[in-house]
Amino acid sequence: MNKRNGKERKPKSIKLFVFIAIIAVGVIPGMLIMGGAMRLYEDRSLQSEVSSVLAEAKLLVNQIESVGYLNDPTNDALTTNLSSVGNAYFGRIMVLDSSLRVIRDTYGVDEGRIVVWNNAVTALSGETVNTYDRGHSVIIVTVPIRSAYSEDQKEVDGVLIITKSTDSISRNIKFYREIFILVTLVLLFASVGLSFYLSSAVKKPVEKMKKSILDIKNGLGSGTLEVNDFSETSEISESFNGVLEQMRSIDDSRQEFVSNVSHELKTPLTSMKVLADSINSMEDAPIDMYKEFMADIGNEIDRETKIINDLLSLVKLDKSGNALNITQVNMNELMELLLKRLSPIAEKQKVDLVMESFRPVTAEVDEVKFSLAIMNLVENGIKYNVEGGYVHVSLNADHQYFFVRVEDSGMGIPEDSISHIFDRFYRVDKSHSREIGGTGLGLAITKNCVVMHHGEIKVRSTEGEGTTFDVRVPLRYIEEEK
Ligand code: ADP
Repeated sequence: MNKRNGKERKPKSIKLFVFIAIIAVGVIPGMLIMGGAMRLYEDRSLQSEVSSVLAEAKLLVNQIESVGYLNDPTNDALTTNLSSVGNAYFGRIMVLDSSLRVIRDTYGVDEGRIVVWNNAVTALSGETVNTYDRGHSVIIVTVPIRSAYSEDQKEVDGVLIITKSTDSISRNIKFYREIFILVTLVLLFASVGLSFYLSSAVKKPVEKMKKSILDIKNGLGSGTLEVNDFSETSEISESFNGVLEQMRSIDDSRQEFVSNVSHELKTPLTSMKVLADSINSMEDAPIDMYKEFMADIGNEIDRETKIINDLLSLVKLDKSGNALNITQVNMNELMELLLKRLSPIAEKQKVDLVMESFRPVTAEVDEVKFSLAIMNLVENGIKYNVEGGYVHVSLNADHQYFFVRVEDSGMGIPEDSISHIFDRFYRVDKSHSREIGGTGLGLAITKNCVVMHHGEIKVRSTEGEGTTFDVRVPLRYIEEEK
C-alpha cells in the first residue's frame, strides 16, 4: 500500500476515478456553459424588449404632445391607441402630468390620483428609466414627456409609464431550463455508463496482468508477462519480464554457487576418505606410511578450513552490505605492513617483493576489508609467479582517488580467462591452483571489497610475462544514498 507523510493511502477505484474525471471534464463545464447561455438569452431578450418598448414610447410621447393630451385627454383616437398598445403588451400604460397626477390609466384604476413612484419622479427630472421586475415578470419603461416644439427644452410636461409583460421570455426560459435539466440528467447517466465502460476497458488488462503474474508465480503458462492491450501495459510487461529475467539469473547463479560450494567442500573430504580407507585396508603398514598419509590428511583439512574461511569472508561481505567500518587510514603504513606480512611467503617462493610509495596517502577505508583485498592480490602475484620473479606494489594518489598497482612477472592469465577471474570458484588451472592452495574465491572477495569502497579494479595480463592489477578508490568514502 502507498504511504505518504507516514499515512497509508487507500487505493482508488478506477471506476470512481473515471466517473469523477468525466463529471469534472464533461458534465460540470457543460452545465456551466448551458447556465451561462440561459443567462445571456434572458439579458438579450430583455434588452430587445426594452428597445422596442422605448421606440413605441417615443411614438406615443410625440402623439401626446402633438394633440396636447396632457391638457385635454379627450382625444379618443389616442386613448384607443394607448389601450390597444397596453393590451398588445399584456401590460398597462399610464400618462401622468407634471404634478404626477394620473391623466390616463389603461387599467382605469388610478385616474385622477397622484402617484409618487421613484421612476416617475426621476422621469420628471428628464431621465428615461427602465426597470425589470423579475417577481412580476414585467419591464417598466418610464419616459419624460416634453414639449414637441423644442427638442432640448429642459422642462418636462409629464410622464409616460409603459409596463410590458415578459411572460413570453419567462416561458421560454422555463422551457430551456427543463431542457437543461433533461440534458444534465442524460449527461449524468451517459457519464455513469461511460465510466463503467472505460473503467472496465482499463481494468481488463490489469486483471489480465494479475492473472499472468499469478500464473508465473505458480509456474504455469509461458513464464513471461505479455499484456499488449495498451502501449503502457506493454511497457510494464517488458519491464516486468526484465526484472524476472534478472531474478532468474540471480537464482541460477545462486544455484551454481551452492553446487560449486558443495563440490569444493566435498573434494578435500573425498581425498581424506580415500587416504584413510587405503591406510586402513593395508595390513602391517609401516609407521612412516601412516605419518605420510596423516600429513596428507592434515593438508586436506587445512584446505577445507581455507575454503570455509574464504566462504565466510565472502558471505560476510555480501551480508554486511554498506556496513563498513570506515576510518582515516595511513595507506603507506598499511601497505608496508601488509607486504611485511607476506614477505615470508615471497621469500619461500623466491619472489622479490617490492613496495613503492609515490606520496603520502591517507584515505577513508575499512582497514580490515581493504587489507583483505590487497593481500589477495599480492598473494596471487607471489603464488602464480616463477622462481626469481618479482611482485611490484605501488601506491599513488591524485586529489580524488588513490591507486594501488600490483604487478608481477608471473605466468600471466590466458586471454579467454580474464573476464572470469573475478567469478567465484573460477580458477584458470584447477589442479595447479589446488596444489598451491587456491580456492578460486580470492579475487571475488577482492572485487567485492573494492566495489564496496566505490572503487574499481582492472586487470591486464600477458601469458608467460606477468599480470598487473590496478585498483582505484576514492580518497573520501562516498556515503550510500538511502
Ligand atoms: P585462487 O584462490 O585460486 O587464487 P583467485 O580468485 O584469487 O583464486 O584467482 C582466480 C584465478 O585467477 C586463479 O586460480 C588463477 O588461475 C588466476 N590468477 C589470479 N591472480 C593471478 C596472477 N597474479 N597471475 C596469474 N594468474 C592469476
